[in-house]
Amino acid sequence: MRARLDLRGDELRALHVARRAWDARKRSDIFLVYSVDIEVADEAALLRRAARDKVLARTLAPTPDTRYRQAAHAPGAGWKRPVVIGTGPCGIFAALILAEMGYRPIILDRGTVVRQRTKDTWGLWRRRVLIPESNVQFGEGGAGTFSDGKLYSGIKAPEAVSRKVLTEFVAAGAPEEILFVAKPHIGTFRLVTMVESLRAKIEALGGEYRFGTKVADILVETGRDGSRRMRGVVTEAGEAIETDHVVLAIGHSARDTFQMLFDRGVHIEAKPFSIGVRIEHPQSIIDRARFGDFAGNKILGAADYKLVHHAANGRSVYSFCMCPGGTVVAATSEAGRVVTNGMSQYSRAERNANAGIVVGITPEQDYPGHPLAGVALQRHWEEQAFIAGGGDYNAPAQRLGDFLADRPSTELGTVVPSYKPGVTPTDLARCLPDFAVAAMREALPAFGRQIRGFDMEDALMTGVETRTSSPVRIRRDAAFRSVNTIGLYPAGEGAGYAGGIFSAGVDGIRVAEAVGRDMAGISAAA
Ligand code: FAD
Repeated sequence: MRARLDLRGDELRALHVARRAWDARKRSDIFLVYSVDIEVADEAALLRRAARDKVLARTLAPTPDTRYRQAAHAPGAGWKRPVVIGTGPCGIFAALILAEMGYRPIILDRGTVVRQRTKDTWGLWRRRVLIPESNVQFGEGGAGTFSDGKLYSGIKAPEAVSRKVLTEFVAAGAPEEILFVAKPHIGTFRLVTMVESLRAKIEALGGEYRFGTKVADILVETGRDGSRRMRGVVTEAGEAIETDHVVLAIGHSARDTFQMLFDRGVHIEAKPFSIGVRIEHPQSIIDRARFGDFAGNKILGAADYKLVHHAANGRSVYSFCMCPGGTVVAATSEAGRVVTNGMSQYSRAERNANAGIVVGITPEQDYPGHPLAGVALQRHWEEQAFIAGGGDYNAPAQRLGDFLADRPSTELGTVVPSYKPGVTPTDLARCLPDFAVAAMREALPAFGRQIRGFDMEDALMTGVETRTSSPVRIRRDAAFRSVNTIGLYPAGEGAGYAGGIFSAGVDGIRVAEAVGRDMAGISAAA
Protein backbone atom coordinates (compact mmCIF):
# COMPACT_ATOMS: atom_id res chain seq x y z
CA MET A 1 0.00 0.00 0.00
CA ARG A 2 2.87 2.35 0.84
CA ALA A 3 4.03 1.92 -2.79
CA ARG A 4 0.62 2.59 -4.29
CA LEU A 5 0.30 5.76 -2.21
CA ASP A 6 3.89 6.66 -3.12
CA LEU A 7 4.73 7.51 0.49
CA ARG A 8 8.40 7.78 1.34
CA GLY A 9 10.44 7.79 4.51
CA ASP A 10 8.44 9.03 7.48
CA GLU A 11 5.59 10.44 5.36
CA LEU A 12 3.30 7.70 6.70
CA ARG A 13 2.88 8.72 10.35
CA ALA A 14 0.20 6.32 11.63
CA LEU A 15 -2.15 3.60 10.43
CA HIS A 16 -5.29 2.26 12.14
CA VAL A 17 -7.73 -0.39 11.00
CA ALA A 18 -11.08 1.38 10.51
CA ARG A 19 -13.03 -1.64 9.36
CA ARG A 20 -12.42 -5.34 8.84
CA ALA A 21 -14.83 -7.53 6.94
CA TRP A 22 -14.55 -10.70 4.92
CA ASP A 23 -15.88 -11.68 1.57
CA ALA A 24 -17.10 -15.30 1.69
CA ARG A 25 -19.14 -15.34 -1.49
CA LYS A 26 -16.76 -18.01 -2.83
CA ARG A 27 -16.17 -20.58 -0.11
CA SER A 28 -12.94 -21.70 -1.76
CA ASP A 29 -11.58 -18.16 -1.89
CA ILE A 30 -12.51 -16.25 1.27
CA PHE A 31 -10.58 -13.05 1.79
CA LEU A 32 -10.39 -10.29 4.37
CA VAL A 33 -11.22 -6.74 3.36
CA TYR A 34 -9.67 -3.89 5.35
CA SER A 35 -10.37 -0.15 5.40
CA VAL A 36 -7.64 1.81 7.13
CA ASP A 37 -7.23 5.31 8.50
CA ILE A 38 -3.81 6.71 7.75
CA GLU A 39 -2.12 9.82 9.03
CA VAL A 40 0.35 11.39 6.60
CA ALA A 41 2.71 14.33 6.73
CA ASP A 42 0.97 16.20 3.91
CA GLU A 43 -2.67 15.13 3.43
CA ALA A 44 -3.46 17.76 0.78
CA ALA A 45 -0.58 16.60 -1.41
CA LEU A 46 -1.66 12.97 -1.10
CA LEU A 47 -5.25 13.80 -2.05
CA ARG A 48 -4.03 15.72 -5.10
CA ARG A 49 -1.95 12.71 -6.16
CA ALA A 50 -4.87 10.36 -5.53
CA ALA A 51 -7.15 12.40 -7.80
CA ARG A 52 -4.85 11.47 -10.72
CA ASP A 53 -4.85 7.71 -9.90
CA LYS A 54 -7.96 5.77 -10.98
CA VAL A 55 -7.85 3.24 -8.15
CA LEU A 56 -6.95 5.71 -5.42
CA ALA A 57 -9.59 8.18 -6.59
CA ARG A 58 -12.17 5.49 -5.81
CA THR A 59 -10.73 4.23 -2.56
CA LEU A 60 -9.04 7.15 -0.82
CA ALA A 61 -11.02 9.86 0.96
CA PRO A 62 -10.44 12.17 3.92
CA THR A 63 -11.21 10.40 7.23
CA PRO A 64 -14.67 11.52 8.38
CA ASP A 65 -14.88 13.58 11.56
CA THR A 66 -16.65 11.26 14.00
CA ARG A 67 -16.14 13.30 17.17
CA TYR A 68 -19.30 13.54 19.22
CA ARG A 69 -20.40 17.08 20.14
CA GLN A 70 -22.96 17.88 22.81
CA ALA A 71 -26.25 19.26 21.50
CA ALA A 72 -26.80 21.60 24.47
CA HIS A 73 -25.61 22.52 27.95
CA ALA A 74 -27.88 22.75 30.97
CA PRO A 75 -28.76 26.37 31.74
CA GLY A 76 -28.03 27.56 35.29
CA ALA A 77 -31.63 27.35 36.51
CA GLY A 78 -35.27 27.12 35.45
CA TRP A 79 -35.63 23.41 34.73
CA LYS A 80 -36.77 20.27 36.49
CA ARG A 81 -34.63 17.14 36.32
CA PRO A 82 -35.63 14.96 33.35
CA VAL A 83 -36.81 11.41 34.04
CA VAL A 84 -35.65 8.43 32.00
CA ILE A 85 -37.82 5.32 32.30
CA GLY A 86 -35.88 2.15 31.54
CA THR A 87 -32.23 1.15 31.81
CA GLY A 88 -31.94 -0.80 28.57
CA PRO A 89 -29.46 0.48 25.96
CA CYS A 90 -31.85 3.26 24.98
CA GLY A 91 -32.39 4.49 28.54
CA ILE A 92 -28.68 4.16 29.38
CA PHE A 93 -27.56 6.28 26.43
CA ALA A 94 -30.36 8.82 26.95
CA ALA A 95 -29.30 9.13 30.60
CA LEU A 96 -25.62 9.37 29.72
CA ILE A 97 -26.13 12.18 27.21
CA LEU A 98 -28.47 14.08 29.55
CA ALA A 99 -25.94 13.69 32.36
CA GLU A 100 -23.10 14.86 30.11
CA MET A 101 -25.15 17.95 29.25
CA GLY A 102 -25.49 18.64 32.98
CA TYR A 103 -29.16 17.72 33.45
CA ARG A 104 -28.71 15.19 36.27
CA PRO A 105 -31.43 12.76 35.08
CA ILE A 106 -33.47 10.54 37.38
CA ILE A 107 -33.42 7.02 35.94
CA LEU A 108 -36.18 4.61 36.94
CA ASP A 109 -36.33 0.88 36.32
CA ARG A 110 -38.93 -1.63 37.45
CA GLY A 111 -36.29 -4.33 37.77
CA THR A 112 -33.21 -4.88 39.88
CA VAL A 113 -29.50 -4.08 39.49
CA VAL A 114 -27.86 -6.31 36.94
CA ARG A 115 -26.11 -8.70 39.39
CA GLN A 116 -29.34 -9.50 41.22
CA ARG A 117 -31.15 -9.65 37.90
CA THR A 118 -28.68 -12.25 36.65
CA LYS A 119 -29.53 -14.47 39.64
CA ASP A 120 -33.27 -13.92 39.12
CA THR A 121 -33.03 -14.77 35.44
CA TRP A 122 -31.13 -17.97 36.15
CA GLY A 123 -33.89 -18.80 38.63
CA LEU A 124 -36.26 -19.37 35.72
CA TRP A 125 -33.68 -21.23 33.69
CA ARG A 126 -32.57 -23.50 36.55
CA ARG A 127 -35.50 -23.75 38.94
CA ARG A 128 -38.55 -22.74 36.85
CA VAL A 129 -39.17 -19.70 39.10
CA LEU A 130 -40.18 -16.57 37.18
CA ILE A 131 -39.88 -13.16 38.87
CA PRO A 132 -42.16 -10.92 36.80
CA GLU A 133 -40.19 -7.72 37.50
CA SER A 134 -36.68 -9.17 37.19
CA ASN A 135 -35.99 -11.43 34.22
CA VAL A 136 -34.62 -11.53 30.67
CA GLN A 137 -36.77 -8.56 29.68
CA PHE A 138 -36.82 -6.38 32.81
CA GLY A 139 -34.09 -4.93 34.98
CA GLU A 140 -30.80 -3.12 34.61
CA GLY A 141 -29.35 -3.43 31.13
CA GLY A 142 -32.69 -4.13 29.47
CA ALA A 143 -33.61 -6.93 27.12
CA GLY A 144 -30.24 -7.40 25.46
CA THR A 145 -28.17 -8.00 28.59
CA PHE A 146 -28.40 -11.77 28.30
CA SER A 147 -27.85 -11.92 24.57
CA ASP A 148 -25.36 -12.44 21.80
CA GLY A 149 -24.65 -8.72 22.04
CA LYS A 150 -24.65 -8.31 18.29
CA LEU A 151 -24.18 -4.66 17.51
CA TYR A 152 -24.82 -4.60 13.79
CA SER A 153 -27.86 -2.90 12.46
CA GLY A 154 -29.17 -1.59 9.17
CA ILE A 155 -29.99 1.86 10.53
CA LYS A 156 -28.65 5.09 9.10
CA ALA A 157 -27.42 7.34 11.90
CA PRO A 158 -24.96 10.22 11.98
CA GLU A 159 -21.41 8.79 12.16
CA ALA A 160 -20.65 10.70 15.36
CA VAL A 161 -23.68 9.25 17.14
CA SER A 162 -22.94 5.66 16.06
CA ARG A 163 -19.33 6.13 17.08
CA LYS A 164 -20.39 7.52 20.46
CA VAL A 165 -22.31 4.30 21.21
CA LEU A 166 -19.38 2.10 20.26
CA THR A 167 -16.69 4.15 22.02
CA GLU A 168 -18.74 4.30 25.22
CA PHE A 169 -19.18 0.53 25.06
CA VAL A 170 -15.42 0.09 24.65
CA ALA A 171 -14.73 2.47 27.54
CA ALA A 172 -17.14 0.36 29.59
CA GLY A 173 -15.29 -2.85 28.79
CA ALA A 174 -16.39 -4.08 25.35
CA PRO A 175 -13.65 -5.58 23.15
CA GLU A 176 -11.94 -2.84 21.16
CA GLU A 177 -12.53 -4.70 17.90
CA ILE A 178 -16.21 -3.60 17.96
CA LEU A 179 -14.89 -0.28 16.64
CA PHE A 180 -13.79 -1.82 13.35
CA VAL A 181 -15.10 -5.33 12.67
CA ALA A 182 -18.00 -5.49 10.23
CA LYS A 183 -20.18 -7.63 12.51
CA PRO A 184 -19.30 -6.69 16.08
CA HIS A 185 -20.62 -8.66 19.04
CA ILE A 186 -19.99 -8.55 22.77
CA GLY A 187 -21.58 -11.62 24.38
CA THR A 188 -23.45 -11.87 27.65
CA PHE A 189 -20.64 -12.08 30.16
CA ARG A 190 -19.13 -8.68 29.30
CA LEU A 191 -22.47 -6.96 28.86
CA VAL A 192 -23.20 -7.38 32.56
CA THR A 193 -20.03 -5.58 33.69
CA MET A 194 -20.41 -2.94 30.97
CA VAL A 195 -23.86 -2.03 32.25
CA GLU A 196 -22.43 -1.56 35.74
CA SER A 197 -19.60 0.56 34.44
CA LEU A 198 -21.98 2.81 32.48
CA ARG A 199 -24.09 3.21 35.61
CA ALA A 200 -21.03 4.37 37.56
CA LYS A 201 -20.24 6.92 34.86
CA ILE A 202 -23.79 8.30 34.78
CA GLU A 203 -23.89 8.55 38.56
CA ALA A 204 -20.54 10.34 38.62
CA LEU A 205 -22.05 12.90 36.26
CA GLY A 206 -25.00 13.51 38.59
CA GLY A 207 -27.53 10.93 37.34
CA GLU A 208 -29.61 9.13 39.95
CA TYR A 209 -30.78 5.53 39.52
CA ARG A 210 -33.77 4.06 41.28
CA PHE A 211 -34.35 0.34 40.82
CA GLY A 212 -37.45 -1.60 41.83
CA THR A 213 -39.35 1.50 40.72
CA LYS A 214 -42.06 0.78 38.21
CA VAL A 215 -43.76 3.79 36.63
CA ALA A 216 -47.44 2.96 37.06
CA ASP A 217 -48.98 6.28 35.97
CA ILE A 218 -48.18 9.57 34.29
CA LEU A 219 -49.29 13.10 35.20
CA VAL A 220 -50.60 14.97 32.17
CA GLU A 221 -51.96 18.51 32.20
CA THR A 222 -54.48 19.41 29.54
CA GLY A 223 -54.48 23.06 28.42
CA ARG A 224 -57.53 25.12 27.44
CA ASP A 225 -56.68 24.52 23.80
CA GLY A 226 -56.68 20.77 24.42
CA SER A 227 -52.89 20.46 24.29
CA ARG A 228 -51.43 17.88 26.67
CA ARG A 229 -48.23 18.38 28.61
CA MET A 230 -46.25 16.02 30.85
CA ARG A 231 -46.05 17.12 34.45
CA GLY A 232 -44.62 14.01 36.08
CA VAL A 233 -44.72 10.28 36.67
CA VAL A 234 -46.14 8.21 39.51
CA THR A 235 -44.37 5.11 40.72
CA GLU A 236 -46.13 1.91 41.70
CA ALA A 237 -45.38 2.76 45.34
CA GLY A 238 -47.42 5.96 44.86
CA GLU A 239 -44.60 8.49 44.76
CA ALA A 240 -45.14 11.37 42.30
CA ILE A 241 -41.98 12.68 40.62
CA GLU A 242 -42.54 16.08 39.02
CA THR A 243 -40.87 16.67 35.70
CA ASP A 244 -41.53 18.30 32.34
CA HIS A 245 -39.44 15.85 30.32
CA VAL A 246 -39.79 12.07 30.31
CA VAL A 247 -37.80 9.71 28.11
CA LEU A 248 -39.92 6.60 27.70
CA ALA A 249 -37.45 3.78 27.02
CA ILE A 250 -39.51 0.87 28.32
CA GLY A 251 -38.72 -1.85 25.77
CA HIS A 252 -41.14 -4.09 23.88
CA SER A 253 -42.32 -6.19 26.81
CA ALA A 254 -43.78 -3.53 29.14
CA ARG A 255 -47.31 -4.53 28.25
CA ASP A 256 -48.87 -3.14 31.43
CA THR A 257 -47.17 0.20 30.77
CA PHE A 258 -48.45 0.25 27.17
CA GLN A 259 -51.94 -0.28 28.59
CA MET A 260 -51.50 2.52 31.16
CA LEU A 261 -50.26 4.94 28.47
CA PHE A 262 -53.18 4.01 26.24
CA ASP A 263 -55.64 4.54 29.13
CA ARG A 264 -54.06 7.96 29.74
CA GLY A 265 -54.68 8.96 26.14
CA VAL A 266 -51.12 8.78 24.79
CA HIS A 267 -51.26 8.15 21.04
CA ILE A 268 -50.33 4.50 20.37
CA GLU A 269 -50.65 2.52 17.15
CA ALA A 270 -50.39 -1.18 16.42
CA LYS A 271 -47.35 -2.02 14.28
CA PRO A 272 -46.12 -5.08 12.39
CA PHE A 273 -43.83 -7.62 14.04
CA SER A 274 -43.05 -11.31 13.51
CA ILE A 275 -43.69 -14.63 15.16
CA GLY A 276 -42.18 -18.08 14.81
CA VAL A 277 -39.73 -20.40 16.53
CA ARG A 278 -36.00 -20.80 17.32
CA ILE A 279 -34.11 -23.37 15.29
CA GLU A 280 -30.92 -25.13 16.41
CA HIS A 281 -28.29 -26.88 14.30
CA PRO A 282 -24.81 -28.10 15.14
CA GLN A 283 -22.60 -25.03 14.60
CA SER A 284 -20.21 -27.22 12.58
CA ILE A 285 -22.88 -27.66 9.88
CA ILE A 286 -23.30 -23.92 9.50
CA ASP A 287 -19.51 -23.34 9.53
CA ARG A 288 -18.99 -25.97 6.85
CA ALA A 289 -21.78 -24.65 4.65
CA ARG A 290 -20.62 -21.04 4.89
CA PHE A 291 -16.84 -21.32 5.03
CA GLY A 292 -16.06 -24.70 3.37
CA ASP A 293 -12.44 -25.66 4.07
CA PHE A 294 -11.99 -22.46 6.07
CA ALA A 295 -14.50 -23.66 8.71
CA GLY A 296 -12.98 -23.23 12.15
CA ASN A 297 -10.63 -20.43 11.07
CA LYS A 298 -10.05 -18.19 14.10
CA ILE A 299 -10.46 -14.86 12.35
CA LEU A 300 -13.72 -15.95 10.71
CA GLY A 301 -15.04 -17.39 14.00
CA ALA A 302 -18.38 -19.22 14.21
CA ALA A 303 -20.37 -18.63 11.02
CA ASP A 304 -23.70 -16.82 10.96
CA TYR A 305 -26.44 -16.70 8.34
CA LYS A 306 -29.26 -14.52 7.17
CA LEU A 307 -32.10 -16.14 5.28
CA VAL A 308 -35.36 -15.00 3.75
CA HIS A 309 -38.11 -16.74 1.81
CA HIS A 310 -41.26 -15.30 0.29
CA ALA A 311 -43.91 -18.00 0.62
CA ALA A 312 -46.75 -18.74 -1.79
CA ASN A 313 -49.33 -17.60 0.77
CA GLY A 314 -47.85 -14.10 0.63
CA ARG A 315 -45.95 -14.34 3.91
CA SER A 316 -42.26 -13.64 4.36
CA VAL A 317 -40.23 -16.04 6.47
CA TYR A 318 -36.80 -14.93 7.65
CA SER A 319 -34.05 -15.72 10.12
CA PHE A 320 -33.92 -13.38 13.11
CA CYS A 321 -31.28 -12.62 15.73
CA MET A 322 -28.98 -15.46 14.70
CA CYS A 323 -26.66 -16.51 17.52
CA PRO A 324 -23.62 -18.52 16.37
CA GLY A 325 -22.31 -20.94 19.01
CA GLY A 326 -24.98 -19.92 21.50
CA THR A 327 -27.99 -21.10 23.44
CA VAL A 328 -31.75 -20.72 23.18
CA VAL A 329 -33.11 -18.91 26.23
CA ALA A 330 -36.40 -18.72 28.10
CA ALA A 331 -37.42 -15.09 27.64
CA THR A 332 -40.87 -14.67 29.14
CA SER A 333 -41.66 -11.84 31.55
CA GLU A 334 -45.18 -13.06 32.32
CA ALA A 335 -46.25 -16.10 34.30
CA GLY A 336 -47.91 -18.94 32.41
CA ARG A 337 -46.26 -18.04 29.10
CA VAL A 338 -43.29 -19.37 27.14
CA VAL A 339 -41.14 -17.20 24.86
CA THR A 340 -37.83 -18.06 23.18
CA ASN A 341 -34.83 -15.95 22.22
CA GLY A 342 -31.09 -16.55 21.83
CA MET A 343 -27.84 -15.59 23.51
CA SER A 344 -24.15 -16.46 23.47
CA GLN A 345 -20.86 -15.64 25.10
CA TYR A 346 -18.17 -13.61 23.32
CA SER A 347 -16.36 -16.82 22.34
CA ARG A 348 -19.46 -18.21 20.59
CA ALA A 349 -18.09 -21.63 21.44
CA GLU A 350 -21.26 -23.57 22.32
CA ARG A 351 -22.02 -26.57 20.15
CA ASN A 352 -25.23 -25.26 18.51
CA ALA A 353 -26.08 -22.38 16.23
CA ASN A 354 -29.54 -20.91 16.81
CA ALA A 355 -31.76 -18.33 15.15
CA GLY A 356 -35.36 -17.27 15.13
CA ILE A 357 -37.26 -18.45 12.06
CA VAL A 358 -40.13 -16.02 11.99
CA VAL A 359 -43.02 -14.91 9.84
CA GLY A 360 -43.98 -11.26 9.38
CA ILE A 361 -47.45 -10.26 10.57
CA THR A 362 -49.32 -6.97 10.27
CA PRO A 363 -52.14 -5.26 12.18
CA GLU A 364 -54.16 -4.84 8.99
CA GLN A 365 -54.14 -8.57 8.22
CA ASP A 366 -53.65 -10.31 11.54
CA TYR A 367 -54.72 -8.20 14.53
CA PRO A 368 -56.94 -5.36 13.37
CA GLY A 369 -59.13 -3.11 15.45
CA HIS A 370 -57.21 -2.05 18.53
CA PRO A 371 -53.78 -0.47 19.11
CA LEU A 372 -52.93 -3.17 21.67
CA ALA A 373 -54.31 -6.12 19.69
CA GLY A 374 -50.77 -7.26 18.87
CA VAL A 375 -50.10 -7.69 22.59
CA ALA A 376 -53.21 -9.87 22.92
CA LEU A 377 -52.03 -11.98 19.99
CA GLN A 378 -48.54 -12.42 21.51
CA ARG A 379 -50.07 -13.46 24.82
CA HIS A 380 -52.35 -15.99 23.14
CA TRP A 381 -49.53 -17.84 21.36
CA GLU A 382 -47.19 -17.62 24.37
CA GLU A 383 -49.92 -19.29 26.45
CA GLN A 384 -50.36 -22.03 23.84
CA ALA A 385 -46.62 -22.64 24.01
CA PHE A 386 -46.73 -22.85 27.80
CA ILE A 387 -49.53 -25.44 27.63
CA ALA A 388 -47.86 -27.43 24.84
CA GLY A 389 -44.61 -27.45 26.83
CA GLY A 390 -46.39 -29.11 29.76
CA GLY A 391 -47.17 -26.11 31.97
CA ASP A 392 -43.85 -26.03 33.83
CA TYR A 393 -41.88 -23.56 31.66
CA ASN A 394 -40.54 -26.34 29.45
CA ALA A 395 -40.73 -25.07 25.87
CA PRO A 396 -42.50 -27.08 23.17
CA ALA A 397 -40.01 -28.49 20.65
CA GLN A 398 -40.13 -30.49 17.45
CA ARG A 399 -37.65 -32.09 15.06
CA LEU A 400 -37.64 -30.31 11.72
CA GLY A 401 -38.40 -33.59 9.90
CA ASP A 402 -41.52 -34.12 12.02
CA PHE A 403 -42.62 -30.50 11.58
CA LEU A 404 -42.38 -30.81 7.79
CA ALA A 405 -44.23 -34.17 7.86
CA ASP A 406 -46.98 -32.70 10.06
CA ARG A 407 -46.50 -35.26 12.83
CA PRO A 408 -45.78 -34.50 16.50
CA SER A 409 -42.30 -35.30 17.77
CA THR A 410 -42.22 -37.94 20.46
CA GLU A 411 -38.48 -37.84 20.97
CA LEU A 412 -35.53 -35.64 20.04
CA GLY A 413 -32.79 -36.50 17.55
CA THR A 414 -29.09 -35.78 17.43
CA VAL A 415 -29.34 -32.03 18.09
CA VAL A 416 -29.16 -31.57 21.86
CA PRO A 417 -31.48 -28.75 22.99
CA SER A 418 -29.80 -25.85 24.75
CA TYR A 419 -33.01 -24.34 26.15
CA LYS A 420 -33.27 -24.31 29.93
CA PRO A 421 -35.14 -25.44 31.98
CA GLY A 422 -35.99 -28.02 29.27
CA VAL A 423 -38.05 -28.87 26.20
CA THR A 424 -41.04 -31.13 25.58
CA PRO A 425 -41.22 -32.92 22.19
CA THR A 426 -44.62 -32.12 20.70
CA ASP A 427 -46.39 -30.51 17.74
CA LEU A 428 -45.38 -26.87 17.23
CA ALA A 429 -48.28 -26.31 14.85
CA ARG A 430 -50.40 -26.02 18.03
CA CYS A 431 -48.50 -22.89 19.01
CA LEU A 432 -48.56 -20.90 15.78
CA PRO A 433 -51.17 -19.59 13.35
CA ASP A 434 -51.84 -21.90 10.38
CA PHE A 435 -50.52 -19.40 7.82
CA ALA A 436 -47.21 -19.19 9.70
CA VAL A 437 -46.91 -23.00 9.82
CA ALA A 438 -47.63 -23.24 6.08
CA ALA A 439 -45.09 -20.53 5.24
CA MET A 440 -42.42 -22.12 7.42
CA ARG A 441 -43.00 -25.58 5.92
CA GLU A 442 -42.28 -24.04 2.55
CA ALA A 443 -39.33 -21.94 3.72
CA LEU A 444 -37.28 -24.56 5.59
CA PRO A 445 -36.51 -26.76 2.54
CA ALA A 446 -35.73 -23.58 0.59
CA PHE A 447 -33.26 -22.58 3.31
CA GLY A 448 -31.74 -26.05 3.00
CA ARG A 449 -30.93 -25.21 -0.62
CA GLN A 450 -29.04 -22.09 0.52
CA ILE A 451 -27.24 -23.66 3.51
CA ARG A 452 -26.56 -27.32 3.02
CA GLY A 453 -27.88 -29.25 6.02
CA PHE A 454 -30.16 -26.49 7.25
CA ASP A 455 -33.20 -28.71 6.61
CA MET A 456 -31.64 -31.75 8.34
CA GLU A 457 -34.34 -33.95 9.90
CA ASP A 458 -32.94 -33.55 13.41
CA ALA A 459 -32.65 -29.74 13.44
CA LEU A 460 -34.53 -28.73 16.54
CA MET A 461 -37.29 -26.14 16.56
CA THR A 462 -38.34 -24.60 19.90
CA GLY A 463 -41.25 -22.23 20.37
CA VAL A 464 -42.47 -19.62 20.45
CA GLU A 465 -40.63 -16.54 19.31
CA THR A 466 -43.07 -13.67 19.69
CA ARG A 467 -41.00 -10.75 20.92
CA THR A 468 -39.14 -9.98 17.74
CA SER A 469 -39.96 -6.28 18.00
CA SER A 470 -42.55 -4.06 19.61
CA PRO A 471 -46.19 -4.74 18.72
CA VAL A 472 -46.85 -0.99 19.08
CA ARG A 473 -45.52 2.35 17.93
CA ILE A 474 -45.83 5.32 20.26
CA ARG A 475 -45.65 7.86 17.50
CA ARG A 476 -43.53 10.98 17.87
CA ASP A 477 -43.07 14.23 15.94
CA ALA A 478 -39.97 15.73 14.33
CA ALA A 479 -38.86 17.00 17.76
CA PHE A 480 -39.00 13.39 19.10
CA ARG A 481 -42.04 14.17 21.32
CA SER A 482 -45.19 12.09 21.51
CA VAL A 483 -47.53 13.42 18.82
CA ASN A 484 -50.16 14.30 21.42
CA THR A 485 -48.28 14.71 24.72
CA ILE A 486 -45.64 17.45 24.95
CA GLY A 487 -42.70 16.49 27.16
CA LEU A 488 -43.12 12.75 26.62
CA TYR A 489 -40.31 11.33 24.46
CA PRO A 490 -41.08 7.76 23.28
CA ALA A 491 -37.76 6.08 22.54
CA GLY A 492 -36.07 2.84 21.67
CA GLU A 493 -37.53 -0.52 20.84
CA GLY A 494 -40.72 -0.34 22.88
CA ALA A 495 -41.83 2.82 21.14
CA GLY A 496 -41.13 1.21 17.77
CA TYR A 497 -38.06 3.34 16.95
CA ALA A 498 -35.27 0.78 17.33
CA GLY A 499 -34.65 -2.91 16.84
CA GLY A 500 -31.59 -4.08 18.68
CA ILE A 501 -28.98 -2.91 21.16
CA PHE A 502 -27.08 -0.59 18.86
CA SER A 503 -30.08 1.14 17.30
CA ALA A 504 -31.69 1.52 20.75
CA GLY A 505 -28.51 3.20 22.00
CA VAL A 506 -28.44 5.50 18.98
CA ASP A 507 -32.10 6.39 19.49
CA GLY A 508 -31.47 7.11 23.17
CA ILE A 509 -28.79 9.63 22.18
CA ARG A 510 -30.95 11.35 19.60
CA VAL A 511 -33.89 11.62 21.96
CA ALA A 512 -31.69 12.94 24.79
CA GLU A 513 -30.29 15.56 22.42
CA ALA A 514 -33.86 16.66 21.63
CA VAL A 515 -34.70 16.81 25.34
CA GLY A 516 -31.51 18.72 26.11
CA ARG A 517 -32.18 21.25 23.37
CA ASP A 518 -35.75 21.78 24.52
CA MET A 519 -34.66 22.26 28.12
CA ALA A 520 -32.04 24.76 27.02
CA GLY A 521 -34.59 26.66 24.95
CA ILE A 522 -32.89 25.79 21.65
CA SER A 523 -35.40 25.27 18.84
CA ALA A 524 -35.33 21.91 17.07
CA ALA A 525 -34.36 23.57 13.79
CA ALA A 526 -31.26 25.22 15.31
P1 FAD B 1 -35.07 -2.65 26.73
O1 FAD B 1 -33.69 -3.12 26.59
O2 FAD B 1 -36.15 -3.65 26.61
O3 FAD B 1 -35.17 -1.92 28.14
C1 FAD B 1 -36.38 -1.51 28.69
C2 FAD B 1 -36.22 -1.30 30.18
O4 FAD B 1 -37.37 -0.60 30.67
C3 FAD B 1 -36.13 -2.58 30.97
O5 FAD B 1 -34.95 -2.56 31.72
C4 FAD B 1 -37.36 -2.58 31.88
O6 FAD B 1 -37.10 -3.11 33.15
C5 FAD B 1 -37.71 -1.10 31.94
N1 FAD B 1 -39.13 -0.81 32.14
C6 FAD B 1 -40.18 -1.24 31.40
N2 FAD B 1 -41.34 -0.72 31.87
C7 FAD B 1 -41.03 0.06 32.91
C8 FAD B 1 -41.81 0.85 33.82
N3 FAD B 1 -43.13 0.94 33.71
N4 FAD B 1 -41.16 1.50 34.82
C9 FAD B 1 -39.80 1.41 34.97
N5 FAD B 1 -39.02 0.67 34.13
C10 FAD B 1 -39.63 0.01 33.11
N6 FAD B 1 -30.36 -7.04 20.12
C11 FAD B 1 -29.20 -6.93 19.46
O7 FAD B 1 -28.94 -5.88 18.86
N7 FAD B 1 -28.29 -7.96 19.44
C12 FAD B 1 -28.51 -9.13 20.09
O8 FAD B 1 -27.67 -10.01 20.06
C13 FAD B 1 -29.73 -9.27 20.81
N8 FAD B 1 -30.02 -10.40 21.46
C14 FAD B 1 -31.12 -10.45 22.29
C15 FAD B 1 -31.30 -11.57 23.08
C16 FAD B 1 -32.36 -11.63 23.97
C17 FAD B 1 -32.50 -12.83 24.86
C18 FAD B 1 -33.29 -10.56 24.02
C19 FAD B 1 -34.47 -10.61 24.96
C20 FAD B 1 -33.14 -9.44 23.20
C21 FAD B 1 -32.04 -9.39 22.32
N9 FAD B 1 -31.82 -8.27 21.51
C22 FAD B 1 -30.64 -8.17 20.81
C23 FAD B 1 -32.77 -7.16 21.44
C24 FAD B 1 -32.30 -6.00 22.29
O9 FAD B 1 -32.07 -6.48 23.57
C25 FAD B 1 -33.33 -4.89 22.32
O10 FAD B 1 -33.53 -4.45 21.00
C26 FAD B 1 -32.84 -3.72 23.15
O11 FAD B 1 -32.53 -4.13 24.46
C27 FAD B 1 -33.91 -2.63 23.22
O12 FAD B 1 -33.44 -1.61 24.04
P2 FAD B 1 -34.41 -0.61 24.80
O13 FAD B 1 -33.53 0.17 25.69
O14 FAD B 1 -35.25 0.10 23.82
O15 FAD B 1 -35.40 -1.52 25.67
